[in-house]
Amino acid sequence: MPDSMTPQQRHNCMSHIRAKNTKPEVLVRQYLHAAGFRFRIHVKKLPGCPDVVLPKYHTCIFVNGCFWHGHIGCRYATRPKSNAEFWQTKIHNNIRRDELSIQTLETMGWKVITVWECDLKKDRRNDTLPSLAEQIRHNGASYASEQAQRRERNAEHRAMLKAAQERYEAAMKELGLSKR
Ligand SMILES: [Zn+2]
Repeated sequence: MPDSMTPQQRHNCMSHIRAKNTKPEVLVRQYLHAAGFRFRIHVKKLPGCPDVVLPKYHTCIFVNGCFWHGHIGCRYATRPKSNAEFWQTKIHNNIRRDELSIQTLETMGWKVITVWECDLKKDRRNDTLPSLAEQIRHNGASYASEQAQRRERNAEHRAMLKAAQERYEAAMKELGLSKR
């Protein structure tokens, strides 16, 4: 594999909390594959290393564990009582990293979908997965019209993108240095 990552990007990927090929992630991949979508997985060169990337639909998907990614209001997002401060910080950092990844990807022109582990439990996945497919198709269609507008304000967009990427790098550096 060609090594085109900056040390910071490599650090972001290595330190990424998400375990790869988790059951929820595999469920999403199997469904999308069966539905005829083609995609790449664990794309390291994109902010946050999205789990699934569908270039044709300009869509990145994160499949998030409710605990690690601090799913708000979710009964699976429990906080351990022992070592509470440690977990508080760790999960807070993960939430912040997720937010920044999404913001940066969106500024780059990607559509971002977060699929939560709890929505892939047996009783919910039959709603979650078809609506995911629908959202992906919708993204593909709306991207085309947005792209036309984006071209009109290309210069402005480039400056915005550069600033967003710099903010992202700086924040990742800060998170990387913070206590884990
Ligand atoms: Zn959840």
